[in-house]
Amino acid sequence: MAIQSINPATNKLIRSFEPLTEDAIAEKLTLAFEASRTYPAVPLEHRALCMRKLASLLEHETTDLARTITLEMGKPLHAAEQEVLKCATACRYYADNAARILTPEPIATENHSYVRWDPLGVILAVMPWNFPFWQVFRFLAPALMAGNVGLLKHASNVPQCALDIESLVRRAGFPRGTFQALLIEARQVERVLADPRIAAVTLTGSEPAGRAIAAQAGWLIKKSVLELGGSDPFLVLPSADLNAAVETAVRARLVNAGQSCIAAKRFIIHESIYDAFEKRFVALMDSMKIGDPMKEDTDIGPLATAKIAEELETQVKAAINEGARVLTGGERMLGNGNYFEPTVLTNVPRSSPVYREELFGPVAMLFPARDLAEAIEIANDTPFGLAASAWTRDPAEQQRLVSELQSGAVFINAMVASDPRLPFGGIKHSGYGRELSAAGMREFLNAKTVVLASPVSAPPLAHER
Ligand code: NAP
Repeated sequence: MAIQSINPATNKLIRSFEPLTEDAIAEKLTLAFEASRTYPAVPLEHRALCMRKLASLLEHETTDLARTITLEMGKPLHAAEQEVLKCATACRYYADNAARILTPEPIATENHSYVRWDPLGVILAVMPWNFPFWQVFRFLAPALMAGNVGLLKHASNVPQCALDIESLVRRAGFPRGTFQALLIEARQVERVLADPRIAAVTLTGSEPAGRAIAAQAGWLIKKSVLELGGSDPFLVLPSADLNAAVETAVRARLVNAGQSCIAAKRFIIHESIYDAFEKRFVALMDSMKIGDPMKEDTDIGPLATAKIAEELETQVKAAINEGARVLTGGERMLGNGNYFEPTVLTNVPRSSPVYREELFGPVAMLFPARDLAEAIEIANDTPFGLAASAWTRDPAEQQRLVSELQSGAVFINAMVASDPRLPFGGIKHSGYGRELSAAGMREFLNAKTVVLASPVSAPPLAHER
């Protein structure tokens, strides 16, 4: 099947690409493998030079690159521009910090001992469309600085983003073969991952894709990192600054039209402030401007594909059938694009399937909680564990939330966001492993233990041989 770039604001075909043939894939694998044998010898300073050039290219070509993002997946142009600029910050972070992160770590033993960080080789990155630049850059910047080589299988609805990123890396001066886009379908991933020249795999995407990749990588005994879905809780307690909490809650739900793994999806509000929160939250959700993502004043663009809008509609209908109440929205919007009304649901029964699912669009679920203990219990009652945002000015409550919320990150009085300096990743069905920071870079490095004994050390005892 052709890989198609379709404008989600109009559902018109922009461009179509034939998936790579087996021969073309083999050629790219050979090139990547050859690069992986020579690239680690390129001095770190030279890699950093290329990485800084990559950041400059992103900064100089922001608007053009952002237009491609908006045309392919529908986020407002101003948000796409922010995404491109964020990629530049990741490039600069790793250019500036790779030497520190990769410095061998001495370990006190009776010999000269240390750990050094060696690249693994060719890493396959299977990526989603929702942040089509950022998701790729947070893999590629640490990988290339560490001496690894990348092969990108991007989501099939953003092929032009994939090709733009490949072109940027080449123009930044990285050696041939160090980063290539593979325009292939999901069903072709299995063959690529099975190739012995692929050392490891990282996937950002859905639970089913994660299971498929992890099962195969496990069988092949290849390292994998999984960044999967989330149904992040957003907790508000009586001492919180209610205005700030409501304003952030709406932003946290509607970021990327709700299509973000770390978007807040379940709002758990102490019952003493529940009514006030609900009233302001619904009013603010209603005030958002939905429309053409190319326009400056648009808050929310279309969902990325017709299928995503259909799936969300099915989930909302299922919730209503199970007894949920719609406070606002609830419908797909008429017209050619994949627009969906900002929606607020209450009374979603804990026994209904939707309660445990990720809602990947502008749909919020509100829950009242009697006290802090019940709020934490509801927050943790999910198969996911990516991140959590909690609002309270009470230091004792803050400490309890930090220690008891089951997630890869807890943000107090702030919206959850990724940052190149901070580790990013989840627990439970949100996946395993970390991206960003030193932790993310080290996922695809061999922590090689080195022991240099003195040449005159005693010969090994018989039982040690
Ligand atoms: P998806 O359907 O899993 O697709 C993600 C990538 O995996 C695409 O490149 C897709 O290719 C590929 N893929 C799908 N099934 C596969 C399989 N069986 N074997 C190999 N590759 C496969 O996910 P999505 O709908 O694009 O993205 C949304 C999901 O990603 C949400 O659950 C979201 O929460 C999650 N996400 C997580 C993070 C995080 O950091 N934790 C960040 C962003 C998004 P095709 O496009 O060709 O199908």
